Amino acid sequence: MKIIDKIQQAMEAKEPFYSFEFFPPKTSAGVENLSARMERMATLEPLFVDVTWGAGGSTSDLTLAISANAQKYLGVEVLMHLTCTNLKVEEIKGALNKAREAGIQNILALRGDPAKGLGNWEAAEGGLRHAIDLVRLIREEHGDYFGVAVAGHPEGHVDGRTGAEEGGQDDDRRDEGWEALELKRLKEKVDAGADFVITQFFYDTEAFLSYVKRCREVGITCPIIPGIMAIQNYNAFARMTDFCETRVPSDVREALKPITSDDDAVKDYGVDLGIRMCKALTEAGTPGVVLKRVGCGGN
Ligand SMILES: Cc1cc2nc3c(=O)[nH]c(=O)nc-3n(C[C@H](O)[C@H](O)[C@H](O)COP(=O)(O)OP(=O)(O)OC[C@H]3O[C@@H](n4cnc5c(N)ncnc54)[C@H](O)[C@@H]3O)c2cc1C
Repeated sequence: MKIIDKIQQAMEAKEPFYSFEFFPPKTSAGVENLSARMERMATLEPLFVDVTWGAGGSTSDLTLAISANAQKYLGVEVLMHLTCTNLKVEEIKGALNKAREAGIQNILALRGDPAKGLGNWEAAEGGLRHAIDLVRLIREEHGDYFGVAVAGHPEGHVDGRTGAEEGGQDDDRRDEGWEALELKRLKEKVDAGADFVITQFFYDTEAFLSYVKRCREVGITCPIIPGIMAIQNYNAFARMTDFCETRVPSDVREALKPITSDDDAVKDYGVDLGIRMCKALTEAGTPGVVLKRVGCGGN
């Protein structure tokens, strides 16, 4: 079933929903742990589960295998992430065909993060350049078979802010213009055939709500689902917020300051903050949330 249909049903019934995002582990022991964890978490009845596509396409076979397994045995719809990084068009077509053969009907179409060790993102030779190219390819090759989601960036995408994607590092874009351009790019992805948007994580709920408002103003009408990443570990939080240039509100920064080396305290705070964020978003009319990186089953 297409996830957009499930989202619409939940919205009509005014039933807030959640989904879980999993990422492929690095070892076979990790794969077994993940499988057990996914089985346990499926009993919590998420609306769907996501499986990420490792940076640079590093986990493509595993992502396909985990997604296929979950789709077949867990009784839950899978949203498989697929990126353009390091893949030729033929390889992307191959991944889509394999997903379809495995009964997967939902794809999160992404450009992708740069491969490990690379600063700027570069298109593969014979590959695709932007997420919109992937949305178009999916629609051209498979018509309406797949439900398609795309990424949104409530605080702006780092390439959009710097102008790196539009052919140059233009400092003026930091001050004006880039936000409108980012919204235009998102609208283009939706117009090209995406059914809904999942956002990058954030810790400032007002930033998300204002982003949704601006999306509506430019005519993006589809569901926009916030990605929530509970803080589970201080170092990972610092690394991810730095990499994505995520704004950390001062109250969050202050609360973490005295507990950075106390893993249990950080986790407790992260869970509490995550719950408060989900409540605030739901009360403000957000239909559901994607709980990001809830597990990979170890390394
Ligand atoms: C919910 C979510 C899940 C994610 N999962 C993964 C994952 O599993 N694996 C992974 O590697 N990464 C993942 N990412 C990270 C994502 O791949 C990166 O954020 C990536 O840098 C941008 O992806 P995108 O799909 O938004 O790219 P795009 O939509 O292509 O946008 C990237 C930049 O290019 C600009 N742009 C878009 N179209 C054009 C155009 N036609 N001309 C000029 N500029 C343009 C945009 O404005 C933006 O600045 C995820 C991100 C999110 C939000």
